[in-house]
Amino acid sequence: MLIDTHAHLDSLDNLAEKLEGAKKAGVGRIVAVSSDPDSSERTVQIAGEDEMVYAAVGIHPHEAARYSEQSLFEIEKLATRSKVVAIGETGLDYHYMNSPKEVQKESFRNHIRLAKKLKLPVVVHVRDSHEDVMAILREEGAWETMGVIHCFSGDWETAKTYLNLGFYISFSGVVTFKKADDVRDAARNVPIERLLIETDSPYLAPVPYRGKPNEPAYVRHVAEKVAEVRGIPLDTLIEETSLNAKNLFLFTSEDVPTSLSYRIRDSLYLNITNKCTIACVFCGKWRSFMLRDFNLRLKKEPSVDELMEAVGDPTGVNEVVFVGWGESLLRLDVVKEVVEKLKAKGVKSVRIDTDGLANLVHGRDILPELNGCIDSISVSLNAQDAETYARVCPSKYGEKAYPEVIEFIRRAKEHIPEVTASIVTVPGVDVEKCRAIVEGIGGVEFRVRTYGRVG
Ligand code: SF4
Ligand SMILES: [Zn+2]
Ligand SMILES: [Zn+2]
Repeated sequence: MLIDTHAHLDSLDNLAEKLEGAKKAGVGRIVAVSSDPDSSERTVQIAGEDEMVYAAVGIHPHEAARYSEQSLFEIEKLATRSKVVAIGETGLDYHYMNSPKEVQKESFRNHIRLAKKLKLPVVVHVRDSHEDVMAILREEGAWETMGVIHCFSGDWETAKTYLNLGFYISFSGVVTFKKADDVRDAARNVPIERLLIETDSPYLAPVPYRGKPNEPAYVRHVAEKVAEVRGIPLDTLIEETSLNAKNLFLFTSEDVPTSLSYRIRDSLYLNITNKCTIACVFCGKWRSFMLRDFNLRLKKEPSVDELMEAVGDPTGVNEVVFVGWGESLLRLDVVKEVVEKLKAKGVKSVRIDTDGLANLVHGRDILPELNGCIDSISVSLNAQDAETYARVCPSKYGEKAYPEVIEFIRRAKEHIPEVTASIVTVPGVDVEKCRAIVEGIGGVEFRVRTYGRVG
């Protein structure tokens, strides 16, 4: 099934005909994006009328002059309607400069904040504005909510920066244009699990329709070109990009309800956040929020009460494990409270996996607070030096993060009975050097996980 991840359906003539044409071309889903509050209203309506259409709501940078607290409030209300799967499009466009830079920036920042609040991905438009877009994504911690740089028209170096910020990259008809060698180079190199395709209909029709109105059916031409430059079969490209789109835009969660907690034998697993401090290149969440048969994509961060309700009666539970696609220690207070309640009900031991950056994030040494609460901790070391770490686990902290991880492991031993340091065998990570670092710390287990098999 092809998925067109970006089309302005409210701007298409003869929409019913175009949707029919898309179905015939093998398009199974379309994410219809909006340009302003009126367009968002129409788009949500279109999604309600056609099974294959989902909506993104927001104010385009061209329309940023229409941005106000009130108009964003209208967007927020629309975002709670069914089949709304993203906020957007938003971003910065310094090419046409239809709205002043400062207004665009304010609108962009507040769209990201809204997306984070509603736990929806954000659809980002960039034109002649990479530097400011990157700075805002970084400052706003946009990777927590994830999103896509749509209609990507930069080079591979630029794409890499967005990937490091935790974003997917979506290619449009531009990839078929004669002079777009840089874009094709990026399309060749973006990791397959972070790649999306789109039309941006009715704009930017791919060759052989260039200059004519674009429509979702033409996403097949984009797919063909991207498959060609990557040297892979078209079917594979379609299958992989559809998986990514389903994951990013939460389509998976329609089929499988979210699990806040589940039990396997005498272990109880808790899923408390999808937020991360880092955007690990090896993370399985880029492809799917499923873990075994459980959907761990949270539409809302659960409260202590909601978690306890999901747990039910913990009789027979020996071990509690904080799992999921996220950094549990970002919700330190929730972890402490839930553990206290569970231990009072007879749970013996608690295990947690962490990135080891909690002290940096919270601005204090949190390890004494885990004393008597956490019995076993596994810290992702992930690299032999700061430079490799910043590449494998990029974050707004850059190379400052790595020494913090080492220090966290060192101090963890003073407060937690069992400490493990783990790595994933990403190319460039030197297993033996990592082992030597861990042995140098002493009293810490060392665990190696194979790249590509991380759950
Ligand atoms: S591996 Fe963990 S910390 Fe890294 S991005 Fe994935 S969920 Fe976040
Ligand atoms: Zn755009
Ligand atoms: Zn668009």
